[in-house]
Amino acid sequence: MPPPSDISLHTPVRSLPGVRTANADALAALGVHQLGHLAAYLPMRHELLEAETTINLIRPDSMITARGEVTATRSMPGRGGRKPRFEAVLMDDTGRLDLVWFNAPYMRRTIHPGMRLRVHGEARAFGPGVQVANPKYTILNDSGPEPAAEGARVRPVYPASEKIGSAVIEQIIADALPLALPMIDDHLSEEYRRRRELPELREAYRMIHRPGSEPDVIAARRRLAYDELLLLQLGVQMKRVHLRTALRSPPLAVSPTIDRHIRARFPFELTPDQNSVIRDVADDVARATPSNRLIQGDVGSGKTIVALYAMLLAVASKHQAALMAPTELLAEQHFSSISRMLEGSKVRMRLLTGALSARERASALDELARGEIDIAIGTHSLISPDVAFHSLAVAIIDEQHRFGVHQRASLRSKGGAADGADQAPAGGPAAPLTPHVLVMTATPIPRTLALTLFGDLDVSTIRSLPPGRKPVRTRVVPASRSEDVYRFLRRRVEAGDQAYVVAPAIDADRGDRATDPGGVDDPESRDDRPGVPAGGVGVRSIESLSARLRGPGGALEGVPVAAMHGRLSEPERDSVMSAFRAGATRVLIATTVIEVGVDVPGANIMIVEHAERFGLSQLHQLRGRVGRGRRQSVCILMGDPVTEEASRRLDVMRRVSDGFVLAERDFEIRGPGEVLGARQSGLAPFKVADLMRDRDLLRLATRDAQEWIARSPTLSGADEALVRRRLLKAHGPWIGIADVG
Ligand code: ADP
Ligand code: MG
Repeated sequence: MPPPSDISLHTPVRSLPGVRTANADALAALGVHQLGHLAAYLPMRHELLEAETTINLIRPDSMITARGEVTATRSMPGRGGRKPRFEAVLMDDTGRLDLVWFNAPYMRRTIHPGMRLRVHGEARAFGPGVQVANPKYTILNDSGPEPAAEGARVRPVYPASEKIGSAVIEQIIADALPLALPMIDDHLSEEYRRRRELPELREAYRMIHRPGSEPDVIAARRRLAYDELLLLQLGVQMKRVHLRTALRSPPLAVSPTIDRHIRARFPFELTPDQNSVIRDVADDVARATPSNRLIQGDVGSGKTIVALYAMLLAVASKHQAALMAPTELLAEQHFSSISRMLEGSKVRMRLLTGALSARERASALDELARGEIDIAIGTHSLISPDVAFHSLAVAIIDEQHRFGVHQRASLRSKGGAADGADQAPAGGPAAPLTPHVLVMTATPIPRTLALTLFGDLDVSTIRSLPPGRKPVRTRVVPASRSEDVYRFLRRRVEAGDQAYVVAPAIDADRGDRATDPGGVDDPESRDDRPGVPAGGVGVRSIESLSARLRGPGGALEGVPVAAMHGRLSEPERDSVMSAFRAGATRVLIATTVIEVGVDVPGANIMIVEHAERFGLSQLHQLRGRVGRGRRQSVCILMGDPVTEEASRRLDVMRRVSDGFVLAERDFEIRGPGEVLGARQSGLAPFKVADLMRDRDLLRLATRDAQEWIARSPTLSGADEALVRRRLLKAHGPWIGIADVG
């Protein structure tokens, strides 16, 4: 054991006084290696221990907590219709309490005379005295932290393992805190804390581990949660400032003439919301500082045209633009719809996906680097390291929630330096250009979350849908009524409707994932949201559905039907989609490859098999494939929810059509961690802060961080060393600011 003067927060747990090797090993397996880790190992919750009573005050028919010494035990085998039972007598200085456990022969090995117990349960009259049947009990060892005999006490409950229980962890931490706390310095000044009524950091750690009462826990949580939120927000704000001051973007020309030329290409009038978002975007790109804007708009609200506008602004200024989509299918659709709008213009476009041959790809990369392509549309292939642009001015990420933070950042880093050469100060090196970045999402991010994760983005929202849209009618139907559903479908198709039928798997025996990655060949881009288990036995597949529906006597016999999934080649996908778009195919049986972005205005019926397997945002996206044309649309969610959560999801889908409301519900049902997924957020989940519960604290931390960074953009003041170090440790790599300042 090191002398106290040699102890630091890095001292190994195993060399702390009184920590047994077995416990140190068990703690190490939980990630706790050093003294500092012990202090930071927070309880997952706290338990309120009821006030204790002395035994003489126990009255029958009440819940009681008492303690005493076991003075006798006996085991009674079950006989003559009576249950086997184990009895113990508990005595304190005031009286005797009888305890009995039924059907618990193992108690004989657990409880012995001489032990001290705290028991909790319902007291009943028993002969002249009182008895507690099947009490909860805690064995009190002499060294354990013992609550006072009277008064309620709050006790921490730690994440434990088979090797080490919460009570032992509690004991070890209780012993270690007096060593650790004096070494924990606060990164917030006393004045700062006082204004926000936050306790000192070491006091917060003491109160969360050793609370005297419930208010201690609340105050401690508030401080620790505030710190988590503040550090994140400081990082976000710091990065925002960095983007705006240290990096340079090509300022694009914006004029009425350019605007007229661009709009002449559009097949429809833009909605007021689209126009206002375009104004935001035009303001952004006219500046020489990089912009970073999130465009939120519900499914079908018309975000693509806004993206095209921004790209054409780049082209008008002789720069390049790129549009990245999460699936090949969507990239192909954007390419063909934008090609159609730009038909006869001089704009040079290229599709860049994993479907290109090596030769095609090499020549495309060459043209991109030489500036012979104006608009590149593709998948994440656009961000592979070999892709270099001549001068990328506008980078757009469609369906951004399907990409990781790092993927978004990579597109931003592709500016190219070509143009920098003539703008750089004479003799100085050409600073690389940073493109203006637009990220688009139809899966709206709840406000609180947007604030946290995209605090470095400006947000524009398209609220209204293009004119003439009718709300989609949604029905939830049990799988047993599938015959009825498909008879209905046949009638509708005969009446001129066009439909999607979505099934989780491609073929029955392969046990495909419910989510078809859909031509995304990057494992990182796989959609791995929970609640969408793999397909498998008993799951309807594209193959079995097609066979059943189109076979002799099947509901769709004679109807032009096609299948769509991620295993088709690019030409196959292309011909399937064009036939469906042209209306030659009336029913498209598809995997979730059509989930995002696919736009066929004629399609007005969506049938989802095994709807219980899909998450809310996924169902909303699927439903968003219809309701884009003039005919009344219907969405039928078929499924038999087995969990409470699944039935809530389907019920919410039936009642709510607004994607923004849905996103908030999703957030409530599943919580932020699940909604985001670790990859999507790129963040370690908070240990203390809860974005749902701590909305107010998040607002406070955001405002504080904004003010702080405005005052001190790189946190390089002498009194900021600690906060800066903690910030970089927590978020540096993710936010990409390890290099700042
Ligand atoms: P999303 O926001 O889901 O990406 P899209 O950009 O795919 O939506 O647009 C959905 C459909 O609405 C497309 O068929 C598109 O052509 C059409 N659309 C978009 N804006 C308008 C508008 N202002 N007027 C009429 N149709 C529009
Ligand atoms: Mg879209």
